[in-house]
Amino acid sequence: MLRRTGFKSKKVDSIGFNAGLKRSSFKKKSVKRRVGYSNPEYMARVAALGCAICRRLGLGWVTAEVHHQRTGTGGGVRAPDTKTAPLCNNHHTGADGIHQGRKAWERRFEVTELELVAETQSMLGFKEEAQSYV
Ligand SMILES: [Zn+2]
Ligand SMILES: [Zn+2]
Repeated sequence: MLRRTGFKSKKVDSIGFNAGLKRSSFKKKSVKRRVGYSNPEYMARVAALGCAICRRLGLGWVTAEVHHQRTGTGGGVRAPDTKTAPLCNNHHTGADGIHQGRKAWERRFEVTELELVAETQSMLGFKEEAQSYV
């Protein structure tokens, strides 16, 4: 009888630790792997935001591809799926794309890759710290 205190706090942990990310689709899978590394659900949500540069340029929603952060990743190492930003084909790998040279691209559009990644994470309610230790 001691337990019947009326508290319904069962689900507080999972909600609190993953604010903004829906839990439903994760339940089937094991959560042992690093959540942030390969995360198709997050990738889909990033792309759905539309190109971050076109948005800045006032062009509205433009179909985007998902760009993985290059800053701080050496050689062939790929950043986790949570370190990404949405860019249209032109602003991604096209003539005006970040892949043509990141530094010049950042100067030209007056935003850094890291800022775009952080902006994307906050738009999707993703908390880097909360996810790293899952
Ligand atoms: Zn664009
Ligand atoms: Zn890319």
